Amino acid sequence: MSDNLFAVVRTVADLRRQVAAWRKAGDRVAMVPTMGALHEGHLSLVNLARGKADRVVASVFVNPTQFAPHEDFDAYPRDEARDSALLAEVGCDLLYAPTVGEMYAPGFSTTVTVAGVSEPLDGQARPTHFAGVATVVTKLLLQCGPDVAVFGEKDYQQLQVIKRLIADLDIPVEVVGAPTARAPDGLALSSRNAYLTPAEREAAPALARALNRAAERLRAGDPVEAVEAEGRAALEAAGFSRIDYFEARGAADLARQGPGPITGDTRLLAAALMGKTRLIDNLAV
Ligand code: AMP
Repeated sequence: MSDNLFAVVRTVADLRRQVAAWRKAGDRVAMVPTMGALHEGHLSLVNLARGKADRVVASVFVNPTQFAPHEDFDAYPRDEARDSALLAEVGCDLLYAPTVGEMYAPGFSTTVTVAGVSEPLDGQARPTHFAGVATVVTKLLLQCGPDVAVFGEKDYQQLQVIKRLIADLDIPVEVVGAPTARAPDGLALSSRNAYLTPAEREAAPALARALNRAAERLRAGDPVEAVEAEGRAALEAAGFSRIDYFEARGAADLARQGPGPITGDTRLLAAALMGKTRLIDNLAV
């Protein structure tokens, strides 16, 4: 970390100036977009990025357009001082932390929507979410122009949406998906875990356990519909109050699987409410 002069920039112009200087020096640049409230999962993405490039830019931007009016945009945890200290510690070179005004100037009118992979699952539960994500990720990639961008498999559907838009819009960047970082009890790390009460936190790992059990059953050839039903029942028994989905889907196109045993490359995906907190998780089958 001796040559790591960690810096923070807030404008597209400053970001581009720094990235251009690195490019001129022959450096490969990686980008890790986040909404801050960083945890070990985010830092594992930065570490992965460091292995793929000479310079790593992390962005912290709580994007208002991917939250519905009733969602937690205002309450979403924000602590830039802590985030930038953590990023500097893991060898990130630059934090890009734009204001909402920098990202969405007056008159902003363009939305990127991705058909198909955006539509099921979280696309049903959060109808405007992926248009907000697709638009902001497109902007971040065009602003930074990285050689490689790292996203977590934790948000598996989001990763598929991003892969699709990058291919469709010919954005010259390599996308890397990073494995989900978990607490020792299996709960996927998430900035939203901070909302859980101690009792809810204790119950929450049932989500990962249900996915593991379902993956085992699917591998053993059990029918998709029975496995999904058992998964939903396990979540209800563990105290999840609203199950948005617990489904086996095609790993790349997110198409429904079944009836009967799975046939191809499959991903299990689930979303459910624990108290007031909506948790999502997924697992390769
Ligand atoms: P967020 O700040 O929640 O928008 O996430 C920023 C990036 O970190 C996204 O690419 C997420 O998929 C990724 N991420 C979030 N949680 C985890 C985790 N537990 N393990 C790996 N990546 C994660």
